[in-house]
Amino acid sequence: MGKRILVIGGVAAGATAAAKARRTDETAEITILEKNGYVSFANCGIPYYIGNVIKSRNSLLLQNAKSLKKRYNIDVFTHTEAIRIDPDKKIVFAKNNSDENLTFQYDKLILCNGAKTIIPPIDGISEIDYFTVRSIEDMDSIKDFIEEHKPESACVIGAGYIGIETSEALMHCGLEVTVVEALPHILPTFSPEVSLKIYEKMVSCGITLKTETKIVKAYKQDNKIILLSEKGESFTTDLLIIATGVKPDIELAKTAGLEIGSVGGVRVNSRMETSVADIYAAGDLVEKKDIITGNYILAPLAGPANREGRVAGCNAAGGNLEYKGTLRTAIVSFENACCAQTGLSYKEAIKFGYDAHFTYTEDPNHVEYYPDPKYIFIKLIFDKKTGKILGAEASGENGVERRIDIISTAIFAGLTVYELGEIDFCYSPPYGAAKDPVNISGLVAT
Ligand code: NAD
Repeated sequence: MGKRILVIGGVAAGATAAAKARRTDETAEITILEKNGYVSFANCGIPYYIGNVIKSRNSLLLQNAKSLKKRYNIDVFTHTEAIRIDPDKKIVFAKNNSDENLTFQYDKLILCNGAKTIIPPIDGISEIDYFTVRSIEDMDSIKDFIEEHKPESACVIGAGYIGIETSEALMHCGLEVTVVEALPHILPTFSPEVSLKIYEKMVSCGITLKTETKIVKAYKQDNKIILLSEKGESFTTDLLIIATGVKPDIELAKTAGLEIGSVGGVRVNSRMETSVADIYAAGDLVEKKDIITGNYILAPLAGPANREGRVAGCNAAGGNLEYKGTLRTAIVSFENACCAQTGLSYKEAIKFGYDAHFTYTEDPNHVEYYPDPKYIFIKLIFDKKTGKILGAEASGENGVERRIDIISTAIFAGLTVYELGEIDFCYSPPYGAAKDPVNISGLVAT
């Protein structure tokens, strides 16, 4: 009999872990337990399906229980929730949707049960039918609600990544959309001067955007949802989305006595091993190492989850991979306006004691004489003493992703800010300029 590898959670980290375990050990018995009905789905695509940009629901379902069995010989139990782990006996206790109690014996366990949506303490919220945007079930419920009830208005609480992407989707569905955000500006991981690009685009598209607006009470009246803010403003809506962040879902991990770190996720080492023998963890559940500072952080992003799942799956199956950490490189857009970032913000760099400086540059994505240049605003953060690149934020339309990815790569490779001015980029008029925006931001910093 092969080694029994049990994976809890079958989405970004879990499905990757199971597939990598299979590639590492052909004889292992690999099983995935997933509490929802779907495995290996593209949750980042959910807002684009709600907004009818992605037409095919099936295209979001990358694998299913049948295809994972056929392609990887992995057994998948959907609608099966792991509820307790006994690490001494190496047993996971689970319950399925027929209320049956099941037990699974393991040799190696990989926890990939992710994060859960934070529901803020809003008085009356438990009496309201609201939606979150995380699973295929959430997506289907929103789609069905729109089709059945033909709502005219929607309110999104939270102007982070999910709030922005979902507000665009609901606008595409023809709804009048209001977004309320407790903090002074949208996209709080970005500087206000960078997120302004998306703010302006949302306002010009007719989204009502209310910052510094914390919702404290909710109730139903005549089939409408009424929201009240701390300042006494009221909002009336037909459909309510809550997108106020996520936190690691650590309840199951606690039953096994796994160490929980200082920022609230499961603590793992670079091999994705937890504090308990033969239990690995990966994805939104775990704390990650910030590549720049070495500190543990939370970064619920699909890229790190995939990479961590790969490392956990390989090592659980007897391989030897290490995960270096993350730069939290991310991008978000509303219509054709987008913002991307990598590494530390200026505020974080100061907090961590760097001799932090930043430059602002604004240059076209390709030469100005070629039709339709689009300007890219870059905020580059670096340590003046050492030249270490600490982070960057950028906003614009076309080419933002390429510049942030270059800077992310430069940080990963340990280049200095001075070397940014010297990198060779491909160039012809439709694609760039002899001096790329990244070259220029490096030169300005020098
Ligand atoms: P988020 O942390 O990005 O944003 C949550 C927002 O809600 C914040 O701006 C916060 O200030 C606000 N908020 C909190 N409580 C509030 C209240 N009571 N009233 C009004 N506003 C309130 O979280 P999210 O948008 O839910 O996304 C979850 C995670 O998923 C993110 O951390 C992100 O990393 C990830 N994600 C990434 C992408 C991407 O990379 N494109 C897309 C979707 C999700």
